[in-house]
Amino acid sequence: MKKKNLMTLGLAAMLLSSCQQKPKETTQEAQEQYVLAIHGGAGTILKKNMTDSLEQAYKVALEAALTAGYAQIKAGHSSLDAVEQAIFVLEDSPLFNAGKGAVFTNDGKNEMDASIMDGKNLAAGAVAAVTTIKNPIAAARAVMEKSEHVMLVGKGAEAFAKQAGLTLVDPSYFWTKQRWDALQKIKLEDSTQVQLDHDQKQSNRLGIVNKDSKFGTVGCVALDKQGNLAAGTSTGGMTNKKYGRVGDSPIIGAGTYADNATCAVSCTGWGEYYIRSVAAYSVSALMAYKGDNVVQASQAVIDRIGKMGGDGGMIAMDKNGHVAMPFNTEGMYRGTVDKDGNIKVEIYK
Ligand code: ASP
Repeated sequence: MKKKNLMTLGLAAMLLSSCQQKPKETTQEAQEQYVLAIHGGAGTILKKNMTDSLEQAYKVALEAALTAGYAQIKAGHSSLDAVEQAIFVLEDSPLFNAGKGAVFTNDGKNEMDASIMDGKNLAAGAVAAVTTIKNPIAAARAVMEKSEHVMLVGKGAEAFAKQAGLTLVDPSYFWTKQRWDALQKIKLEDSTQVQLDHDQKQSNRLGIVNKDSKFGTVGCVALDKQGNLAAGTSTGGMTNKKYGRVGDSPIIGAGTYADNATCAVSCTGWGEYYIRSVAAYSVSALMAYKGDNVVQASQAVIDRIGKMGGDGGMIAMDKNGHVAMPFNTEGMYRGTVDKDGNIKVEIYK
């Protein structure tokens, strides 16, 4: 009798705990099926600092990128094609910190990084510190498809891109007034902060001022009709970076990751933290080894980065088209398209 009571109690407890877990599962199950998600960077993005026309311009650009990516998926092309086409739109827009809108290094240059990964076969390609490649994401894809390597940097990457037939431009193509002014402002703040607060923030030790920063990196994750996932990320890095600094964006496993068995991920944020926490791969690992869903896994990684003192966000999509877009900053430019072509764009929390 006693034994039976205990068994009943045990069963009741199990049932209760499965009921308690259910809302999380339901959230995941109830999600739309998305085919594409993009981000245009996270950071101190507040409505009170935004004009209506600028907000509109961001929305139009995000929608254009989603439309371009969706057209590829709809036509039955690969998720890689969708990622590349969506990122082209964002790289060509001066609004985002990638391609045309790339931020400046401390010595007044635009040095860009990008990476792409194919979830079907774990193939990947990346370029870092390039200054003359119009669309760094195309160069990352060329490294993946036309070389035996995963990452090429600087002049070598540019020579390879030329050989691969990609468009090269004069570095002045990347100059924008808005980014130039941002560098001048940060340089001024930097000198003041070094005096006042020289050892308090890691940003000062790195020579990068993170105050009020916006991480305008762009990224895309996609799922095609064949069930293949892909992810890509492209960036100018962080304003005022020095000494050939490279962030997480071109590092497979840190800024970008895709595996059909788990998810596709593209990150944006303070790169050093994303590298140290192996952010993009960690989402995949939590799903593969711990059984987390994409919402739980990506939130856990962003929480960990927050605890480490870093900030930013990410977009992640699983093989069923469920999307998570967590961030620990005030805002993140982001958007999704579902399988029927419905577009949604968001900026603030
Ligand atoms: N993650 C990028 C980097 O650290 C910056 C960004 O996301 O905007 O280079």
